[in-house]
Amino acid sequence: MKITRITVYQHDLPLEHPYWLSGGRLKFEVLDATFVRLDTDVGLVGWGEGTPWGHTYVAAHSPGIRAGIETMARFVLGLDPRRVLEVERAMDLALPGHLYAKAPIDMACWDIAGQAAGLPIADLMGGGSRTPRPIASSVGAKTAEDTREVIERYRARGYVAHSVKIGGDVERDIARVRDVESIRRPGEIVLYDVNRGWSRAEALQVMRACEDLQVTFEQPGETLDDVAALSGRHSCPVSVDESLVTLQDAARIARDGLAEVFGIKLNRVGGLTKAARMRDIALAHGIDMFVMATGGSVLADAEALHLAATVPDHACRAVWACQDMITAEIAGGRGPRNREGHLHLPEEPGLGVHPDQEALGDPVAVYEA
Ligand code: MG
Repeated sequence: MKITRITVYQHDLPLEHPYWLSGGRLKFEVLDATFVRLDTDVGLVGWGEGTPWGHTYVAAHSPGIRAGIETMARFVLGLDPRRVLEVERAMDLALPGHLYAKAPIDMACWDIAGQAAGLPIADLMGGGSRTPRPIASSVGAKTAEDTREVIERYRARGYVAHSVKIGGDVERDIARVRDVESIRRPGEIVLYDVNRGWSRAEALQVMRACEDLQVTFEQPGETLDDVAALSGRHSCPVSVDESLVTLQDAARIARDGLAEVFGIKLNRVGGLTKAARMRDIALAHGIDMFVMATGGSVLADAEALHLAATVPDHACRAVWACQDMITAEIAGGRGPRNREGHLHLPEEPGLGVHPDQEALGDPVAVYEA
């Protein structure tokens, strides 16, 4: 089997509510999505998506995905999409780094490989759990009152997991954490996501003030060096996501005991092939995982769900459904959707959901062998 054509689409995904990152640092209203269709000489078609969480968040740039694909296309055309490691090596040789540009092609290859095998991607990867995965909310509120309101809104839609965005002001952060913990229900999963919004001193202040609660803080510093500098000076569990980009990051975090949780974002780390290695490092070191897209449509959520299904139930904390935060629908309601706050693994071979091509409009680029 050979990849004969790569077709690239650009599509805007408007957010239902404008988004502010922790501390009001960044605001954006639309996600710039790239959809990639791979055609093969046997008629199988695979789809991938690359949707960064805006371009001001971390080093990921939607036009960069499309430019990266332009650079890599001739090295990928003609390869067998089922041999994901060969496709990965070809992309890494053609364009070192730029992991977020490679993820959509890797995703589309897994989609084709699953269809060829007659298996959902998770099963092709070795076995997918059918335990529905809780969806983490994204609570980007400011005050304690707003935070309660947003959590209630998500609870009404069945959510049992919440990612509460903090990282603005030390006193307000402590107050919001304490308030959320006071209304936390049994079994609810709550993560306090700092999104790099603290200095080292601020991180120590809040984390030490919350030690009695033993809540998990995500990305409490800008870099892994910052997270490492805090390590051993507080007793709160830590999750790392923005600083978990490469396999070397994963190895360092595990070896040095910098975090108890990995936040694996598929597009950031370069797709399923690379993310699966991080999963294994996590499992080998007793590290739990949140598995999610960096953003995007039901396709991106479905990809993350497949990886999450390959994580043993006890080690998978939650996934995300960015689709619930956007107003565009590109798959006609198909694919894994929020059911009582959970996503259920699709049973169709491959990814389990493809976009309506009419919804995507005309391609922005076509590369052929
Ligand atoms: Mg995060």
